[in-house]
Amino acid sequence: MSRPETEQWYHFETDEIASRWETSSEQGLPLLEVARRRNRFGPNQLTQAKGETKLRVFIRQFQQPLVYILLVATALTLVLREWADAAVIFGVVLVNSIIGYVQEAKALKAISALSKVLSSDANVVRGGQVSQISAADLVPGDCVKLQSGDRVPADIRLLHQRDLQIDESALTGESVPVEKSVTALAEGTPLAERTNMAFSSTLVTYGTGTGIVVATGDHTEIGHINKLIATADVLETPLVRRINELSHTLLKVILVLAACVAFSILLRGEPAVEVLLAAVALAVGAIPEGLPAVVTATLALGVSRLASRRAIVRKLPAVETLGSTSVICSDKTGTLTQNQMTVRRISTGNQQYDVDGSGYEAKGSITAATTSDIAPVDDHQLVEMLRAGVLCNDTRLVSVGHSEWKVEGDPTEAALLTSALKLGLEGHVANSEFPRRDAIPFESQYQYMATLHQSHADQSVAYIKGSVERLLPRCKLLADGSPVDSAAIESQVAEMAADGLRVLAFAKKTFPADKTNLEHDDLTSGLELLGLQGMIDPPRPEAIKAVAACQNAGIKVKMITGDHVGTATAIAGQLGLAGRRNDENTGLFGITGTQLEALSDRELIDSVEEIAVFARVSPAQKLRLVEALQSKGNVVAMTGDGVNDAPALRQANIGVAMGITGTEVTKEAADMILTDDNFATIEAAVEEGRGIYDNLKKFIAWTLPTNLGEAGIILVAAFLGFQLPITPLQILWINMSTAILLGATLAFEPKEPGLMARPPRDANEPILSVTLMWRTLWVGALLVLATYGVFAFKKYLGVELESARTAAVNVIVMGQAAYLLTCRSLRHSMFQLGIFSNPLVWAGIAAMIGLQVMLTYVPLLNQIFETQPTTWRPWALAFGTGLVLFLLSEIDKAWRSVGGVKEAS
Ligand code: ADP
Ligand code: MG
Repeated sequence: MSRPETEQWYHFETDEIASRWETSSEQGLPLLEVARRRNRFGPNQLTQAKGETKLRVFIRQFQQPLVYILLVATALTLVLREWADAAVIFGVVLVNSIIGYVQEAKALKAISALSKVLSSDANVVRGGQVSQISAADLVPGDCVKLQSGDRVPADIRLLHQRDLQIDESALTGESVPVEKSVTALAEGTPLAERTNMAFSSTLVTYGTGTGIVVATGDHTEIGHINKLIATADVLETPLVRRINELSHTLLKVILVLAACVAFSILLRGEPAVEVLLAAVALAVGAIPEGLPAVVTATLALGVSRLASRRAIVRKLPAVETLGSTSVICSDKTGTLTQNQMTVRRISTGNQQYDVDGSGYEAKGSITAATTSDIAPVDDHQLVEMLRAGVLCNDTRLVSVGHSEWKVEGDPTEAALLTSALKLGLEGHVANSEFPRRDAIPFESQYQYMATLHQSHADQSVAYIKGSVERLLPRCKLLADGSPVDSAAIESQVAEMAADGLRVLAFAKKTFPADKTNLEHDDLTSGLELLGLQGMIDPPRPEAIKAVAACQNAGIKVKMITGDHVGTATAIAGQLGLAGRRNDENTGLFGITGTQLEALSDRELIDSVEEIAVFARVSPAQKLRLVEALQSKGNVVAMTGDGVNDAPALRQANIGVAMGITGTEVTKEAADMILTDDNFATIEAAVEEGRGIYDNLKKFIAWTLPTNLGEAGIILVAAFLGFQLPITPLQILWINMSTAILLGATLAFEPKEPGLMARPPRDANEPILSVTLMWRTLWVGALLVLATYGVFAFKKYLGVELESARTAAVNVIVMGQAAYLLTCRSLRHSMFQLGIFSNPLVWAGIAAMIGLQVMLTYVPLLNQIFETQPTTWRPWALAFGTGLVLFLLSEIDKAWRSVGGVKEAS
């Protein structure tokens, strides 16, 4: 077909839409037509808008104060006709920019790769069948079903809707969700008021709807404005910002110092070039110019490391926050447990049954728990309850190979399909016998779902399933007309819950035959209880290990669930999630949402850290929980899967969404997405986060003292009037080569032993701790001292100036290399780490030595840098200095850990 010539779909009546697109809302498109349209209209994807060009990213590297200084210096040296100096200084600019560019490009690539992983799905009717497809495969004319939590996959004209509300802020900037309708609107209605349309990329926050796709890909409204441009400021994290601030402060101090140095050399009557070069060398030597780039690159490297451990980071700051996480609040179902539900016990109120078999395969039988005269198939109430479970159900079990099943929908509902099949009750049979007229979908705030069906006896019937707390009070009678013994039912529930079973209650209510729509108000009373089904959902074995690892790492784990408190505490017990305070029954301390509600803010804050299980909590209570934990100074990671969890996820320091079962709305709000929905992945991510932050600290601990050493050499000469042991040009050389070959290798340091045996890092810990400042001072001083010492010694021996300087250069470089080995860990010795566990460090050192050999013996370099070949003796001296520095800093480190001084570099 060709594209209908209109854009004003909101103006048409609903039946006209379907006919214009040659489709129907019941059958959808025929499968062959789908293929044709797919060729005709292309995939439902936005052409990625061009981000910054490579050239722009490269040019941006020049836009920083240090480079301005260097460019000015280049110009001045050119004017003074000092070609070699000009070339070297400009070389520094180039190398600096190339490093910056490479690291930033890597970071941007890592981040943009993530957006590709996150494709979303769509529920579509095709050839009369509902199926789940990738949103990219939608074509115009497809009939799409929307439900709360979905991201609208294309521009859709709505045909049916039920309380549908959509957050269109992505498109209009308006953050209040829009209530949708299906009535035709006047021509020329502005975008924000087209209430019968659902626009691509907006988020369904409530209700359900069905509609016809009218535009895909770049033809959608979001496609017209295409805002999906990668922005550069995503690279800024709190840490990067703090480091930038630190660099700026340093820069100011250094510029003042450089001016003083220039002035004092000028006073001594040195030529202008010397003055200029000394000032430039001081600036370049002292400024840790690699720092922001290394931090960004390390965080970006962390993003890919996390991705390989199945945690997708959506916001870069999460990488550094992860390392300081002190509380993890996790969903129970599917995250701590396997989300493999199997009904194990059934009660009809009169009779109890056991169910055997495992998984979703319909192998196993239902047998009466106590001797009974009637066979299960003849127990009408049992059959009716199982049927209710099948009818009041939106989930499909799709066979994927021999006795393997894929759940399309909710595992809780899938379990009900299986339990019914064990008595021979098939879903499609029941559904054609009792056609569905209406449905109230499950929303966790209501804790139940209901469907309305046409029934035999000239009446319609509603089936309701949900939590016992919500349904039981509405039921006075059992389905056989006898009164409900609430106490007996509750004790059955308690018994099932104590075994860790997840319990669902079932009820029904009959209505006149002409009833076609169902409202919450229809179901407030007068229900007949059909009974209970209790299903197991065993803990994930890896979650049990991860919980133990977290507790070992000083991270508290809290279970947050919509489930029954008894079920939750039983599972928590199996997970080893004991709180400190003991409840005499369960050995655990768990409370319900109602109990939580009764606590004042003060009481909640005082007790929140002691409570391990929060059951039947509402999304609003989750938010309160996060706030209470944070007000105790905790860094909180919080998982969520439902639409209403978004506020709590945003409030949490790390909002975690589920990749498989999570809604698009929660993914949008999250900082991190678990591609396997597994609690163990959060623990792994925290471990990675700690490792990454550790490596940043190591780089900082290495770069500050070495920068101070380089600057110190010039400062001492300028203020004390000594001869320079290293020329400014040589300082530029050392600075650039060591930063790349030595410092940057620390980013690849593997995680240290005992990483998860430490308490969480204080989130407010300053970058420049006292320990680090102290270490910067003494290591920097030692480097200066060694350089002057060797220089003076060589001069005393009467060697030429160039030769003495070459020896001095080699000393400071070897000193930095040796100190690098110490910085591989700020708490363990190199031998504890494994000498070769980071081969890159050794490769860097070897390359560095190679460069020094060239600087010493290659004639061209001798000429440019005024060096001179030396004998082996100065090399021995350089290695010796390195060894001494290494031993001293290792002793310092050991002394700190033995003395119990808190390590805080
Ligand atoms: P959680 O995911 O933490 O287990 P939910 O909010 O999904 O909590 O479920 C809360 C309660 O709502 C469950 O204990 C159950 O009683 C009920 N429930 C869960 N899923 C459904 C469903 N699909 N239909 C009806 N009721 C449900
Ligand atoms: Mg759930």
